Amino acid sequence: MYSTAFLDLPPLQAAAGEVHLPGSKSISNRVLLLAALSNGTTTVHDLLASDDTRVMLDALRQIGCTVDKAGSTVRITGLGGRLPQSPAKLFLGNAGTAMRPLTAALALLGGEFELSGVPRMHERPIGDLIDALRQLGCQIDYLGNDGYPPLKIAHGQGVPALALAAPIRVRGDVSSQFLTALLMALPLAAGTQAIVIEVVGELISKPYIAITLQLLARFGIVVEHQNWQRFTIAAGSRYQSPGSIHVEADASSASYFIALGAIATSATGQKDTKSGIKIQGVGLDSIQGDIRFVEAARAMGAVITGGPNWLQIERGAWPLKAIDLDCNHIPDAAMTLAVMALYAEGTTTLTNIASWRVKETDRIAAMATELRKLGATVEEGADYIRVTPPAQSADWKAASIHTYDDHRVAMCFSLAAFNPARLPVRIEDPKCVAKTFPDYFEALFSVAQVETSHIPVICIDGPTASGKGTVAAAVAQRLGYRFLDSGAMYRITALAALRAGFAIDADHEARIATLAQTLPVRFEGGKVWLGSDDVTEAIRTEEAGMNASRVSALPAVRTALVDLQHSFQRLPGLVADGRDMGTVIFPEAPLKVYLTASAACRAERRYKQLISKGFSASIEDLRADLEARDARDSSRSVAPLKPAQDALVLDNSDLTIEQAVEKVLAWWQERQPFAASAQR
Ligand code: C5P
Repeated sequence: MYSTAFLDLPPLQAAAGEVHLPGSKSISNRVLLLAALSNGTTTVHDLLASDDTRVMLDALRQIGCTVDKAGSTVRITGLGGRLPQSPAKLFLGNAGTAMRPLTAALALLGGEFELSGVPRMHERPIGDLIDALRQLGCQIDYLGNDGYPPLKIAHGQGVPALALAAPIRVRGDVSSQFLTALLMALPLAAGTQAIVIEVVGELISKPYIAITLQLLARFGIVVEHQNWQRFTIAAGSRYQSPGSIHVEADASSASYFIALGAIATSATGQKDTKSGIKIQGVGLDSIQGDIRFVEAARAMGAVITGGPNWLQIERGAWPLKAIDLDCNHIPDAAMTLAVMALYAEGTTTLTNIASWRVKETDRIAAMATELRKLGATVEEGADYIRVTPPAQSADWKAASIHTYDDHRVAMCFSLAAFNPARLPVRIEDPKCVAKTFPDYFEALFSVAQVETSHIPVICIDGPTASGKGTVAAAVAQRLGYRFLDSGAMYRITALAALRAGFAIDADHEARIATLAQTLPVRFEGGKVWLGSDDVTEAIRTEEAGMNASRVSALPAVRTALVDLQHSFQRLPGLVADGRDMGTVIFPEAPLKVYLTASAACRAERRYKQLISKGFSASIEDLRADLEARDARDSSRSVAPLKPAQDALVLDNSDLTIEQAVEKVLAWWQERQPFAASAQR
């Protein structure tokens, strides 16, 4: 996840490959309970890992289901008519999707249970559901405040005779979860007669009830409904495991990748690369309302095929076709259409979207404001938005997109990075995507393709102990960029050479170069690995630095390490520190900094560093050492240490690390086209 203040997306060109989207929360917990109530064993694939599913799994184990979890796959052997284990105290965290349906199901199964959660759960209403269950004859007591958990189900003597002849009435205008709970529990009581549930008040969130009905059908339960007000569970209903079931990915999250496939071409000129975008986790047969985004994307030109649990998207019509669409059935995913409209010929109108005004933010206003920043002409009304793209490439503007703490704004505007003007796009507060898709940008970068030359690089070169490593790492962190510590490459090479028994001299140059070319180096979790050895500490000693300096003077070794260093230039950008980043490795980098400090100052910093790590050291020796190293680094024949011609020199002798970092970031900001619009 990117938790930076902003994330700059370089202009993106193409996209191809496969993305696996995280499972939907509302489907995950329904499936778990249905599997627990069924006869037989159900293998649940792609379960969402979250607090809410964890408490549900724990509760199911407690009531006597066999639960085996391996990664995102869970095997559950259901009760299948057996009595649940009781008495039991179930803790359900803050999971409404566990508390409500479990209460209803356990009340109908029999036994003694206490259900509780975190304090916030005890403030979430459940009275309408309890009223409906009491109406049936269930004995349920409030252990705290009336109308709220914690609760006690007191059916230790078995379930009392239930009043099933008359319709069971439940309110539908507070939470659709009460109806969902009854729909999932009452099949347990369906004997020779059908059971009817009547909704009192207008039913909200119908798409969620539709999901419940679809999932019930997968577990063998048929429910008919009249106009979403009267639901009939067939007589003789009985839960039967489907054997295996996939939890679908969130269909609204899929919309960004569907749009990506519609907008982006596949890699140019690379024959063997796969074309298009493949989405794993949600398919054309999805039970989520937002899957109908597929129809809208097709209307705009996308070519979409799919099967169970997968979708494949290719670019079709180009430019996209403008549409005029009532989006009431896909309110969340429709935001993605507003950004796709930037790539359409003509004006796109999205209507019947009044609900946008009362979501995470006023989404109509937000979309209009941000689309205009990119150069679009936008008209907004109480319940519609009309988007006309920039007339031509030159009319696009580089924009810093404000995201209003709204995950969907952040995700859909990332698609603006495919603009024909090849302008970067800044997404402010990128971490807001965590609400539904913490790794959204990682997923985007895994399929987005871009000419390497368009991936920004900031070079920070300088003499030893100038602070460049610390400054470079901090700059990388602030920008969400990757980080290359090129000195580590030479340090590791020297270590590998010595371990292989080679003296570091010209006689062994060719052999050390060969070694360098196939260096099994990995940077993972803040550690440096050479094969299976953690060499993080070993390469940081003064001696390792000296050896690195010697090995780095061998021309063949330098050449051997070029490709490895280039391979760090990946999305969304790179900060590289070393001696020749700006002069040799990334000569086209848009910002080169030469960070230096007086020898006295550097010796003192190195001294403090060593002392703090518990090593003994002498300032005079350190100063002599680093001056020797500088002399060798500056006088060697290949890639001698010197500022690149276009480097900005920063003497940080009198600056703190933070001040140096701010200076480099300020220079970087000055070079960005949207620097002026960054502050709203
Ligand atoms: O930066 P660091 O102290 O880790 O570098 C160790 C040695 O590696 C330097 O003294 C220098 O000789 C060499 N080096 C280099 N080119 C780089 C980075 C480091 O020659 N880009």
